[in-house]
Amino acid sequence: MSSTAVSERGTAPRPAAFITGAAGGIGRAVALEFARTHNLVVTDRDPAGLLSTQHQASLLGAQTVHRSADVTDENALRELLAEARTVFGPVTNVVACAGIAPGGTVETTSLDDWHRVLAVNLTGTFVTARVSISSLRETRGSFIAIASDAGTFGAQDLAAYVASKHGVVGLVKSLALDFGAEGIRSNAICPGFVETPMMRQIFDESPAGTEEYYRNAVPTGRFAKPGEIAKIARHLTESNYANGITYAVDGGSTAGYYRAPHTS
Ligand code: NAP
Repeated sequence: MSSTAVSERGTAPRPAAFITGAAGGIGRAVALEFARTHNLVVTDRDPAGLLSTQHQASLLGAQTVHRSADVTDENALRELLAEARTVFGPVTNVVACAGIAPGGTVETTSLDDWHRVLAVNLTGTFVTARVSISSLRETRGSFIAIASDAGTFGAQDLAAYVASKHGVVGLVKSLALDFGAEGIRSNAICPGFVETPMMRQIFDESPAGTEEYYRNAVPTGRFAKPGEIAKIARHLTESNYANGITYAVDGGSTAGYYRAPHTS
């Protein structure tokens, strides 16, 4: 089920940012980062979380058009952008954040789960880009996908996730080449672990000691906050020559082999 709602009506001089997965985690942080300067077009499958994001954004001065929908539903996303266009005009910045990360090796991942992860993470990013391109062509805007360090490196027990995020990184490179000449810049952000409900679920379902193991593998000694990823998204949208970048934001954990000071 989905519904569209506009928080406040009226035209506004702010540009508009379209963000998927905006009901929580990194997506909400990105929405609130852009809410300082943009109006928002936000979607997620969680309607209550979207309303909370809309409320927090309004405190930062942003008007919001929102719709609960599955990120793979092309028609729903097209309708959302069409609705938003009547209020804000075409969107200028797009950030694809919706994603899921169920664990499993090739042996323990069911075919259904494989299809679901590929659908949400990779097809969802494809659909988000596909419905946004015509607006971005008009605004000469920016497309960002939140990929992952699992988009450039492997990770144990996350076979479908790793495959989907490698796909996202490849898709963004194709976008950068296909649409760069029209002024649309496309980039991928590759975070390490970020303190969100997704990270909590991964560690809650992992053997004891997994969280500590991964924290010890981060040279800065801690996981990222969602707002730190959001700031990189803003930075990339404002960097007019950035196109086709795979931007690691992981405290240095993919810089090379690392031995934490307190491990032997
Ligand atoms: P999160 O806290 O779980 O937030 C993801 C949001 O996307 C949730 O609101 C979720 O709704 C929504 N969503 C999931 N499937 C959807 C679908 N089919 N249609 C529409 N919305 C959907 O996760 P996060 O940590 O913020 O992750 C955001 C992005 O960053 C993901 O692409 C993730 O792979 C990536 N990332 C995260 C980390 C990390 O450590 N957290 C690291 C690297 C990359 P529900 O709550 O209903 O599921």
